[in-house]
Amino acid sequence: METKIYDASTIDEAAELLKVGELIAFPTETVYGLGAIASNDEAVKNVYKVKGRPSDNPLIVHVSDRKIAQYVAFVPQQAEALMEAFWPGPLTLIFPMKEGVFAPTVTAGHNTVALRMPAQEQTLELIRKTGFPLVGPSANTSGKPSPTTAQHVLHDLSGKIAGILDGGETQIGLESTVLDLTNADGPVILRPGAITEVQLEPIIGKLAGSAQTTNEAEAPKAPGMKYQHYAPAQPVILIDGTAADWEGVIEEYRGKGKAIGILASEEQLAVHKAAARATYSLGLKDDVAAASQRLYAGLRYLDEQPIDVILAEAYDLSGLGKAFMNRLEKAASSKYPKKQAK
Ligand code: AMP
Ligand code: MG
Repeated sequence: METKIYDASTIDEAAELLKVGELIAFPTETVYGLGAIASNDEAVKNVYKVKGRPSDNPLIVHVSDRKIAQYVAFVPQQAEALMEAFWPGPLTLIFPMKEGVFAPTVTAGHNTVALRMPAQEQTLELIRKTGFPLVGPSANTSGKPSPTTAQHVLHDLSGKIAGILDGGETQIGLESTVLDLTNADGPVILRPGAITEVQLEPIIGKLAGSAQTTNEAEAPKAPGMKYQHYAPAQPVILIDGTAADWEGVIEEYRGKGKAIGILASEEQLAVHKAAARATYSLGLKDDVAAASQRLYAGLRYLDEQPIDVILAEAYDLSGLGKAFMNRLEKAASSKYPKKQAK
């Protein structure tokens, strides 16, 4: 099939295709989602198939407003306040599931369901015109960096889906915060994102837990977090160190005759650019929002370059840095310098 590009003037046609079970990728403020009407089990199964997504990793359902009582078993009081504060926006909430509302495959056997209202006017319009919520996992091949442009979606899914609603580059560039409201001990962040603990706690009180950046010893919190993610073909070495550490890693790979790619801040590139075959700038070091917005495009760009290894710069964990580092750690095959054992 030919994958057609849609825009604001052709949303009606895209919605008609969704209604009959076709797949249409859509922009959000986080990354592009792969849309299918959440009531059609065949369509939802096809989402797993074209992404190559493991069948035990549930999908987020995208809604067009805050009136969600009809879709879940009940709406916890905290959810009302959170939706008021952060929807539309990059916060996914996990609710107790209501039988018979969504196609069975949406929740992958869980008794909970994840809902989000994206802050993207064209996509809200697409959902309204389709007349029912849409599933929307990231519109990439499973395991690869998430798509932040319609071109990224085409690269991975061209010929496999009916269309893409093109909304340009996504604003945030990292997937939503996932907050579980069904946990008996209190709310838990399953996946860090642009809405942080510091923003959530004034509204719902102390969280019962929060996913850290990747820690292999820890069991995955969200069902999907155990899988390899965001990874280009080359190994990604995460460097969390001094200028001397960078020199050391660069010398090591050059000594082995390896072509190096660097994904780093302007400041870091200014020092080490000469040693690299290819580089991608994450922006100025104090701007973690810019780094987050560029991360996946950078990994995708370097993936296509004639290089053997990607050296990537670590950022501070404060604010959005936690989500940025969570994704970069998942993309990385090793870290340098190695953490000292406690
Ligand atoms: P993606 O759609 O690729 O951005 O991933 C969606 C994330 O939300 C994955 O980490 C899922 O495991 C998580 N998720 C979706 N539904 C649920 C649910 N019912 N319970 C817990 N996590 C969920
Ligand atoms: Mg994904």
